[in-house]
Amino acid sequence: YKEELKKMKNEKSVTLDDHHVELVANIGSPKDIQGVIDNGGEGVGLFRTEFLYMESAQLPTEEEQFNVYKEVLEGLEGKPAVVRTLDIGGDKEIEAIDLPKEMNPFLGVRAVRLCFQREDIFRVQLRALLRASVYGDLRIMFPMIATLDEFRKAKGILMEEKEKLVNEGIAVSDTLQVGIMIEIPAAAVLADQFAKEVDFFSIGTNDLVQYTFAADRMSSGVSYLYQPFHPSILRLVKHVIDSAHAEGKWTGMCGEMAGEAIAAPLLIGLGLDEFSMSATSILSQRKLIRSMKKSEMNELAAKAINCSTMEEVVALVKEYIEM
Ligand code: PEP
Ligand code: MG
Repeated sequence: YKEELKKMKNEKSVTLDDHHVELVANIGSPKDIQGVIDNGGEGVGLFRTEFLYMESAQLPTEEEQFNVYKEVLEGLEGKPAVVRTLDIGGDKEIEAIDLPKEMNPFLGVRAVRLCFQREDIFRVQLRALLRASVYGDLRIMFPMIATLDEFRKAKGILMEEKEKLVNEGIAVSDTLQVGIMIEIPAAAVLADQFAKEVDFFSIGTNDLVQYTFAADRMSSGVSYLYQPFHPSILRLVKHVIDSAHAEGKWTGMCGEMAGEAIAAPLLIGLGLDEFSMSATSILSQRKLIRSMKKSEMNELAAKAINCSTMEEVVALVKEYIEM
């Protein structure tokens, strides 16, 4: 079976009826790039930059960050890299930033919310990213966006930093894409409006599922509510993808769901453009996708969104795909 998977490395991510998608990887450090290449990854769909801030008690400098982003982009040799700006808070803490103690940290000052409070930290990261942008196909992604105003504010700060760099005579890519994670239900519901202003969406199901079911992703007591294949989630995913496509934009998924076999037929049917997962899942997802017909998965997805429970969805998937 392993040998058979290896053969998938240089194959295209395409269904039997010639529908193409992109299979990319989630990484946490430039050290992970070799694994992405070895597993036939077509790029990086989520670079979690938190590690940069966790390595020492000091905040990483602009120069340190620039070197890391450049290394990732150069390592990918022109393949796209979606880099997510700092997502601290929730379950992640760092020594160098004093986070407020809150009753519900997952609903508190996290990710862009923190970056707006600490614009000094945010601007350093954005400058480093902008400077690195000329070394490859960089896409910048803001996490935990709930409202259009937040997106506009984050993008506005990015554009200010870009202008400063240009005035300093420093080259910045002008094909840079700017997108958001869809991981808060409010943003998923308003995706049609976001789609007019962003370049892409990437659905963060780890958080989207937790916030949609109001079930902490860390709590075993409510884990029965953590249902990524539930019709509620599928309907949100469908709305996000359809909204993006209506504006000529693309949608990826970078939550764990994107790497799961059960999800693949559903997501192909719903029209997801990019699947970002741990590098070690890429070859098996590719093999599975290459065994599907898009036209059949469309039919499956249309039925799945009208199911009432996750069990029904899973049973339906197994009717369509042998696994
Ligand atoms: C997600 O929420 O699905 C996601 C990819 O981000 P993280 O797991 O880092 O919160
Ligand atoms: Mg998240």
